[in-house]
Amino acid sequence: MPLPVGHSMMGYVLHETFGEKHSCLQARNKPLAPWKALLLFVFLANLPDIDFLVGFLVGEPNLYHRHFLSHSIGAAAIVGCIAALCFCWRDWRRFTWHVLLFGSIYFSHVFLDAFSHDTSQPVGVPMLWPFSKDYIVSPVLLFLSVEKEGNGMNFVQNLFVMHNIWAAVLEFLIFMPIVSIIKLVKNRRRLLQPIYEE
Ligand SMILES: [Zn+2]
Repeated sequence: MPLPVGHSMMGYVLHETFGEKHSCLQARNKPLAPWKALLLFVFLANLPDIDFLVGFLVGEPNLYHRHFLSHSIGAAAIVGCIAALCFCWRDWRRFTWHVLLFGSIYFSHVFLDAFSHDTSQPVGVPMLWPFSKDYIVSPVLLFLSVEKEGNGMNFVQNLFVMHNIWAAVLEFLIFMPIVSIIKLVKNRRRLLQPIYEE
């Protein structure tokens, strides 16, 4: 699994790519502010790892991690429907678009997890549930594994080891060129304007 660094940067990339197409997102009768929409994207991109919290409550944080109820296309469809219901209930015209959008943001997490080195069994993610419970892992692995041992507060402390810091740096370096390209494409008119004016 990538760390929240990789998943959050994926949420940012999706927001920059599709951010202007979610104008029906409403909060108290007003369109959602861009920074709130960005927070929503980042939240959904990290949401599947809430399964740690369930394990945390029973004293074993890894117990339910990468469960099919959190890391699958079925979970993405359910979350996509719930999020679209919450944000589009005043304007149903783009409900289907938002189910796909929110579901895709959630599924981006599951997809990235399949590209990560994994040291715990079963390796991979059950991404095709409910169609299959098989755990799937990419033959090409981009992200380092994350050391996540221990229980309770010990588990939180163990996350801040050097290996995980390197994993976070690598995730940042992988996503930085993608973020830069998207920024360049989005701002190309402004950047090229001085050339046009000459
Ligand atoms: Zn995950």
